[in-house]
Amino acid sequence: MQADENAWPFNRQEDQRCPICLHEYERTQLTKHHLVPKSRKGKATVLICAACHKQIHAIFSEKELEAKYSTVEALCDAEEFRPWVSWIRKRKPTKRLRVTQSGRRRR
Ligand SMILES: [Zn+2]
Ligand SMILES: [Zn+2]
Repeated sequence: MQADENAWPFNRQEDQRCPICLHEYERTQLTKHHLVPKSRKGKATVLICAACHKQIHAIFSEKELEAKYSTVEALCDAEEFRPWVSWIRKRKPTKRLRVTQSGRRRR
């Protein structure tokens, strides 16, 4: 099923921010990450930059993503991912750096 391709927010503004490194990119530079792997019937996707995306999959297995890191917040809060996050966020000045409140989760 490729139905979720249509869920991509094509109608958004041209520039978007990667929710992980908080850098702004053109929409075409962002890649779609499945918060819960497709194979686990995950539908929620998030647009993130290729660098962060690559990093996520280098660190986490699909099982981990499904079980523990199905939100951007959880990802950024993950022990293994945090060094990347703080590094990449410092690489360029970003407009807003409101990231330290990672303790707020939905559950
Ligand atoms: Zn990024
Ligand atoms: Zn992905």
